[in-house]
Amino acid sequence: MIDFRSDTVTQPTEAMRLAMSRAEVGDDVYGDDPTVNNLQDMAADMFGFDAALFVSSGTQANLLALMSHCERGDEYLCGQQAHNYKFEGGGAAVLGSIQPQPLNNQTDGSILLSDIEAAIKPDDVHFARTRLLSLENTIGGKVLRQDYLAQAQSLAFNRDLKIHLDGARVANAAVAQDIAIADITQYFDSVSICLSKGLCAPIGSILLGDERLIGKATRWRKMLGGGMRQAGIIAAAAKLALTDQVDRLVDDHHNAKALALLLAEMPEFTVDANLVQTNMVFATLADDINPKMLAASLADKGIIISPSRQLRLVTHKDISANDIKVFVNTLKQLMG
Ligand SMILES: *Cc1c(COP(=O)(O)O)cnc(C)c1O
Repeated sequence: MIDFRSDTVTQPTEAMRLAMSRAEVGDDVYGDDPTVNNLQDMAADMFGFDAALFVSSGTQANLLALMSHCERGDEYLCGQQAHNYKFEGGGAAVLGSIQPQPLNNQTDGSILLSDIEAAIKPDDVHFARTRLLSLENTIGGKVLRQDYLAQAQSLAFNRDLKIHLDGARVANAAVAQDIAIADITQYFDSVSICLSKGLCAPIGSILLGDERLIGKATRWRKMLGGGMRQAGIIAAAAKLALTDQVDRLVDDHHNAKALALLLAEMPEFTVDANLVQTNMVFATLADDINPKMLAASLADKGIIISPSRQLRLVTHKDISANDIKVFVNTLKQLMG
């Protein structure tokens, strides 16, 4: 099967399976799991933070960050398209009593600094207390510019806000710019990173912050049922995600670009290959093609896509350069 739905479908590597079978473990709720501790120390060190917390998912990492920065009645500023606004079940509001203040995302994924400034509420009993700015990088496969991050950080600092990065795919953003992940995370008070997407770990995300933030997050994680016991089993694979899988992302980016260029030559698709910066290709299907029927015909040939007129095709470890050719040839056959 060639699966373009998401990089979340990646299978763990053989090295990961071996490391998992051999992992030294303990009860992580007591802080006794040496493999989890090692992963957390390694991540904090790699990304320039005091502390790190291994958690079950990116959604949990973001929720813990929001709940640790904000109190009941506080608000966070984020993009309309932000995962931690739009795709996390309203968790901050439901579980944290924290109000989101979504703002327009520009086509490059950024939020205008002037929109951020204008949304910061005055200290007045009528308003929620604006506490946090949350950005996302990559967002919809797009990389936020480094100078924008620096400007957002100084805005946050000057207006007494904390700044969080949903860095589910921050490794893709770093590889796309040929810089270290730490060059991006340096602008933030906290960062969440998914290890289970392009980095191929089976389970897990990392939350980074200072000791105080991670202390609070550890308490909330336990309350939310995310305190895990012999979690070293999965942390062993997560370590290899950070050490062995980051540089490989460049292949995913090449494959995405190649796919976009090939689709752009076909009349059935509208694609701007220049917009492809990382591992996502967005393509619009021509009106006379039924997305569900296309997905069903492709499935018969062992190719999986999420049916939509606005296709999102994601490249990852388990899609090779040759698989891109197979996919495009299959499309040509079906559309012949
Ligand atoms: C996938 C994703 C998350 C959530 O991660 P899960 O592990 O699926 O909960 C958060 N933010 C972004 C930008 C994501 O792409």
